[in-house]
Amino acid sequence: MAKYVDYTFENCECQCDECGFESIIDSTDYSDINKQLKDDNWVIKKIGDYWHEFCSEECYEIFINSENIKKEGMKNDSKSNI
Ligand SMILES: [Zn+2]
Repeated sequence: MAKYVDYTFENCECQCDECGFESIIDSTDYSDINKQLKDDNWVIKKIGDYWHEFCSEECYEIFINSENIKKEGMKNDSKSNI
């Protein structure tokens, strides 16, 4: 999860999992952080076992598409082994 809560400065550094864009949220409370991210049009999604944050719907689409390509690649690899 690309969120880092800093209890010294009482804020949270959030980084987009696709483009690396960073946003500082002035809170250490996760529900508050998520609410503020959503207000800024961030996309928060659970993919597999992990939560991911994206600064926009576009970044989420790019990330999901590249994940699907990776999965397709794995399928093709297992076929070639048969
Ligand atoms: Zn992004």
